[in-house]
Amino acid sequence: MRHRRSFIPGPSEVRAENLAALSRPQVGHRSEEFKELYARVVPKLQTLLETQGNVFLFTSSSTGVWEAGIRNCVSERVLCCMQGAFSDRWLDVAEANGKRVGRLQVDWGRAITAEAIDAELQKGGYDAIAVVHNETATGVMNHLDEIAAVMRKYPDVIFMVDAVSSMAGVRIPVDEYGIDLCLAGLQKAFALPAGLAVAAVSDKALDKARRVEHRGYYFDFLEILEYHRKNQTPATPAIPQINALDAQMDDMLEEGLQNRYARHAALAAIVQEWSRERFAIFAQEGYESHTVTCVKNTRGVSVADLNRELGRQSATISNGYGKLKEHTFRIAHMGDTEEWEIRGLLATIDRILGL
Ligand code: PLP
Repeated sequence: MRHRRSFIPGPSEVRAENLAALSRPQVGHRSEEFKELYARVVPKLQTLLETQGNVFLFTSSSTGVWEAGIRNCVSERVLCCMQGAFSDRWLDVAEANGKRVGRLQVDWGRAITAEAIDAELQKGGYDAIAVVHNETATGVMNHLDEIAAVMRKYPDVIFMVDAVSSMAGVRIPVDEYGIDLCLAGLQKAFALPAGLAVAAVSDKALDKARRVEHRGYYFDFLEILEYHRKNQTPATPAIPQINALDAQMDDMLEEGLQNRYARHAALAAIVQEWSRERFAIFAQEGYESHTVTCVKNTRGVSVADLNRELGRQSATISNGYGKLKEHTFRIAHMGDTEEWEIRGLLATIDRILGL
């Protein structure tokens, strides 16, 4: 199959060095080699997430960790902050697990604000909140620092954050923000193959899990904790992906996390300036994502045709998500993407569309 350079918001382009790390020799997951690998990777993730707390590895995609959060941390009612396809779906997961839910819903493209969360939590009756940091469907990045400040007023409410398309591209100081569950899959800003998810899990979340019944089996935080303490996972993990994560974390730390975040911000600025000049941006002003831009298709171009032409140039972008399919298109600028690649992509789109 011909390789198309990925500018879609996951799975992202994976560098050859990290693909090579997938093929490190297999080891048993109860072996000393595995324990050493695990013990190497976790502290790097703690550095990334600026946390002293536990960081768990999940052999599943991010959806699995949504379910884990719901099953381990919700006993009364969870407030689901809904603003797009992914945040809306976290509520479906809560309902599918028989949990009572509350909806804080805004139109697609709008942000979830700290004030709106405050107003809803003040009503009481919630023991957890589910917030998506960066809504991949709309390119809206909520102001997590402001939300975190409000959450300090509600110490009994477990603060769950989906950072699926922001983690490793945007700074998320988990302990400073008091986040209890901060989750992401590796196929987005980590720029690694899909199949593994990571999450910071606070002691508060673990205490909560001790008081919640029917946490399930595969995603039981207390079981995971027991093995985590031995540098292991309860079941056989995706060892190749952990090897790739090990390699990629070294590269990220070598790049420097602040440099990585600055690169993401700079790429976002380039794409967003281009989008404003030629189209418009779907996200509410002031909440434009640093990792993916959702471009409003104000010229009514055929996104399918555009992508077909890009495909001939060995690149691919993403159409709009769900109901936004032809009304928007999305350009990801996350992971290991460099400025020359983004500028090349935008110049190619200009040429194809005659702009
Ligand atoms: N949350 C967000 C913000 C996402 O963008 C996605 C997928 O794109 C998911 C959750 C679900 O991730 P997965 O399909 O890897 O389970």
